[in-house]
Amino acid sequence: MAKSKYELIVVGAGVVGMGIALAAHKKGVKKILVIDRHQACTGASIRNFGFITITGLRQKLMQKRALRSRDIWLDLTKKAKIKVNHRGLYLLAQHKESMPVLEEYLKVDPRKTVKLLSKKEIAAESSLFQNNKVFGGLYSSDEVRIEPRLAIPAVAKYLQSIGIDFLWKEEVLDFSHKQIITQKRKIDYKNLIMAPGNHLKGLGRDIFEKKEVQSSRLHMLRIMPKKKIKLPGGIMADLTLMRYPGYENLPSKKKLDKVIKKTSKAELDNGIHVIAVQGNDGSLTIGDSHHYTHDTHFPFENEKIDNLILKKFDQVLPIGKYDVIERWVGEYPAGKKDYLDHWIDKNICIANVTTGIGMSTGFSFAEDVINKLY
Ligand SMILES: Cc1cc2nc3c(=O)[nH]c(=O)nc-3n(C[C@H](O)[C@H](O)[C@H](O)COP(=O)(O)OP(=O)(O)OC[C@H]3O[C@@H](n4cnc5c(N)ncnc54)[C@H](O)[C@@H]3O)c2cc1C
Repeated sequence: MAKSKYELIVVGAGVVGMGIALAAHKKGVKKILVIDRHQACTGASIRNFGFITITGLRQKLMQKRALRSRDIWLDLTKKAKIKVNHRGLYLLAQHKESMPVLEEYLKVDPRKTVKLLSKKEIAAESSLFQNNKVFGGLYSSDEVRIEPRLAIPAVAKYLQSIGIDFLWKEEVLDFSHKQIITQKRKIDYKNLIMAPGNHLKGLGRDIFEKKEVQSSRLHMLRIMPKKKIKLPGGIMADLTLMRYPGYENLPSKKKLDKVIKKTSKAELDNGIHVIAVQGNDGSLTIGDSHHYTHDTHFPFENEKIDNLILKKFDQVLPIGKYDVIERWVGEYPAGKKDYLDHWIDKNICIANVTTGIGMSTGFSFAEDVINKLY
């Protein structure tokens, strides 16, 4: 940490904080410092699927931000040497009532890179799709999967290599109009952007309370198939239609809602939908569930939730036997709006993606925040 006064201090080395530092650097800002309370980012940015989702997002801002962020990720894969595990998304429709919803979705999504697939076309895409019950589905070629626990540290290393300073293991406890205060020191700044993620009881707690930002808790699992398999892309299924905002107002969804309430009540009660992606070692990251709370440190995990996720996964993608090799819980902030950039003053901002889509849209959101500052 060399400089005595920083042009820009960013609190939080997650995807949003690092996106802000990168966007500022691209604008020619010198003397940037990123501070994180841990030895590396341990928040949502390393706990997610690493799936840069484009399909099913809200039009137009959210999808626009996802496409832009995807391009930034692809640029970083070269510069920071991050491996792309797979590209594209298959959304498998296991209820016949999902097909009209997907047809209607194609009319509102302006991309040429997304298309409807019949049952036969799905089966032709991969041997993994031949033993499951599907009525058809969607394919989008835009999605990208990277391993977040490797990608996030690689981005931090790259940012350091282009001259951005990092200060690890220091918590920003407070700030004045000119200085931030950590447990060890005070550092002067000209501009301050705080991207604390789900740390809702720390910096910006009054704002989070006022805006009624909650914490969404997700169960995640990593499994290792006994037999080697290769996913042709990221996998989602019907329950995603119940969660992603791009599907919520489609006319046929009401009929699907009724059916899914009957077939998957326990899953709906626990906010479960199936996403499956594959990592460098062949393992699959699968999830997830959603429970909303103002208590960000609820410690207990109910095994029933993991069992529901696994049962649903088995229906979506019957891959034979596997071992569960990891389980974890991740949390992201959930607000009434998708994004929160609250300017405390013209040079001080709290920036947060307040829906579970920061890995896909965080870099572009960060650019928009920086464009307001410079
Ligand atoms: C299980 C799970 C699955 C998800 N799946 C997806 C997905 O498929 N696609 C998608 O787009 N998004 C997904 N998300 C959402 C996405 O991960 C988040 O939106 C995104 O990572 C948020 O990034 P962030 O930088 O705001 O927060 P974080 O990654 O939490 O980073 C915040 C950082 O700030 C630091 N910090 C906080 N307060 C202080 C302080 N006072 N001083 C110093 N440091 C501080 C923390 O230590 C942390 O490193 C998922 C999230 C979870 C939890």
